[in-house]
Amino acid sequence: MTASLVDMTLPSWASHLEHKLAPPHLLLVQAFVNTLDLDLRTDVLAHADEARAWLADAGLREPRQPDPDFAADLQLARDVREALRAMIAHNAEGNPLTTEDNPLTEAELRPLERVTSQAGLRLDVTPDGHVRLGTMTPARSLADGLAGLLLTIRDAQADGSWDRLKLCGNPDCLWAFYDRSHSRRGAWCEMASCGNRHKNRNLRARRARRAALSS
Ligand SMILES: [Zn+2]
Repeated sequence: MTASLVDMTLPSWASHLEHKLAPPHLLLVQAFVNTLDLDLRTDVLAHADEARAWLADAGLREPRQPDPDFAADLQLARDVREALRAMIAHNAEGNPLTTEDNPLTEAELRPLERVTSQAGLRLDVTPDGHVRLGTMTPARSLADGLAGLLLTIRDAQADGSWDRLKLCGNPDCLWAFYDRSHSRRGAWCEMASCGNRHKNRNLRARRARRAALSS
């Protein structure tokens, strides 16, 4: 079992996460995807200054990079965020939002290809004989930083933890949460806020249909 973050102080770049936290190795992926909060209608990447600060704080982009690049970087960050959200959507077994044969679209794959083609990846052999693939550290460009997220995802796919990172089944929420349930069938970021809201909405719709039928 991976170390839990309960009772640990969250890093500043993850301060917007409150519940169903991913284990430390996936926390940055979760925090990055959740920089867009559909429920609260907030977006850390909406404004250049806030986005620049967050990306630097999270170690995804060198803050001293020349600023003329930043508009393009910001677009790349937003596009990759939605591509990762689409990847996470595939993990939701039984999620009404996804079906099994739901491949990533061209538009979702394109920003990821930009990352993989632009990033400075390096292969190292450590003195104890381990072969490691990594990015330039600290990240020289945003593509390097985002490629680091893809490597994290690759490792999590190999150890099985990736499957537990899911999107909330409420289409107005789509929050990325980590499903620690034994059954691995969690569907909501929070039962109280999204699960019940979703059920109430279905209940209201059923009642409205029934009322319409009986009138
Ligand atoms: Zn939710």
